[in-house]
Amino acid sequence: MWRAAVAVRTLRGSGAGASRAASGAAAAQLRRRLESELEDIRGAGTWKSERVIASRQGPHLRLAGGGAGIINFCANNYLGLSSHPEVIRAAVEALEKFGAGLSSVRFICGTQSIHKDLEEKIAHFHQREDAILYASCFDANAGIFEALLTPEDAVLSDELNHASIIDGIRLCKANKYRYKHMDMQDLEAKLKEAQKHRLRLVATDGAFSMDGDIAPLREICQLAQKYDALVFIDECHATGFLGPNGRGTDELLGVMDKVTIINSTLGKALGGAAGGYTTGPKPLIDLLRQRSRPYLFSNSLPPAVVGCASKALDLLMESNAIAQSMAAKTQRFRSKMTAAGFTISGKDHPICPVMLGDAQLASVMAEDMLNRGIYVIGFSYPVVPKGKARIRVQISAVHSDEDIDRCVEAFTEVGRKHGALP
Ligand code: PLP
Repeated sequence: MWRAAVAVRTLRGSGAGASRAASGAAAAQLRRRLESELEDIRGAGTWKSERVIASRQGPHLRLAGGGAGIINFCANNYLGLSSHPEVIRAAVEALEKFGAGLSSVRFICGTQSIHKDLEEKIAHFHQREDAILYASCFDANAGIFEALLTPEDAVLSDELNHASIIDGIRLCKANKYRYKHMDMQDLEAKLKEAQKHRLRLVATDGAFSMDGDIAPLREICQLAQKYDALVFIDECHATGFLGPNGRGTDELLGVMDKVTIINSTLGKALGGAAGGYTTGPKPLIDLLRQRSRPYLFSNSLPPAVVGCASKALDLLMESNAIAQSMAAKTQRFRSKMTAAGFTISGKDHPICPVMLGDAQLASVMAEDMLNRGIYVIGFSYPVVPKGKARIRVQISAVHSDEDIDRCVEAFTEVGRKHGALP
C-alpha cells in the first residue's frame, strides 16, 4: 500500500511530485532499515510478543482465541486491586462526575479537586509533605533529575536501576556515578569521589523487579548521612505491600525519616490503572510543578484513573489485611518451590524468580507451563545477565492457596520433564 502510493507519486513527475518522490525514496530506505533491524531482533531471539487477554486483569484469565481458566502469575497486580469491585465503582463514579479527561495540562485548566485530593492522600500515605502526579512513574523518573540537579551536583545510581531512572539521569546535567548493584563498598567509594560536588543524590530502586531483591536502604541511608547525601527511591515494586502497613521499602527497613524522595506508580499494586508520582519535601514538589517537563507538557491524569488509585489507597489505609494475605501467599510459594528443589532469587518479595540459568530451558518451560494453564514468563539475556535466565513468578493477594499449589505442581512436573529437577 505504502509502496504503491510512492510509485504513483513518482510517476506523476511534477515539481511537487519530484519532492514527494525524494521523500518516498527516504521512506523506502527507512522501511528496509527497519525490516533489517526487526530481523536482527528476531535472529537474536529477543523478540517480545504480546499475548492478548480477553478478560479483566486478575488471578484467572481468558486469553483471546480460546484459552480460558489460565492462572496468571505475571502481572504486577500484587494486591489484586486491578479488578476490585470498589476500585471499579470508584472509577465509574469519577468518570460520571468529572468526565473522560481534562483536555489540558495541569497548569492551564487541567487540575480538578480529585487531583488535589489524591496528591494529599499520597503524601499522607507516605508520611511526606506533598506529592505531585504524573501520567506514569516513567514520567516521574524522567522529570525529577533534570529539575533538581545541575552541573554542580552529582547523582549516584545503582547499576541495575530501572530503565526510566537511567533515562531520567541521562537527561540531567549532573555528574554521574554508577555503583555496583547493592554494593555498599563501591557506593562509599563513589560518595567519597563525589564530595567535590555541591549536592549528592543516591538513586536506587527500592525493590528490583528482575531479582525480587530489596535495596539495603539502612546501609544506604547510613552512608548518605556520613557523606552528606540525599536518598531517592523508586518504589514501583514496593508501594502498597512492603512494610507492616504497605508503605514500602523505607517502612520495611525502618528508614522512613531518612529517605528524602520517593517516586512510585499507580499502575501496579495501587489499582493497576496508570499514573505515577513524586512525594517528598514541599519545596521540591513546588519546584517540580514549575520545572518538570513531563508534568508541564503532558495531559492531566484522567478522572477514572484518579478514582481507581484514590480508592486503592483508601482500602490500604483502612486495613493491612490485603498486604498481609499477599505476604502469606508469597511465603507459601517460596517455601514449597524451595522444598521441591528450585532456587528462588530474592527474599520475602512477591517477585519470585525461578532461577534456571539456560535461556532455552526458561523459554521452553514457560511455554509448557502455559500448556498446563499457568501463565508465567521466561526472561533471558539481554533483559537479565547471560547464564542467569529465569522464569519470573509474581504472587498476588488474590491467588488462592490452591492456585499457588497448582503452580508449584506444574513447575515440578515441567522441571522434571526438561531436566531442571532430578
Ligand atoms: N520504575 C520501575 C522500577 C518499574 O518497574 C516501572 C514499570 O515497569 C516504572 C518505573 C515505570 O512505571 P509506570 O508503568 O508507572 O510508567
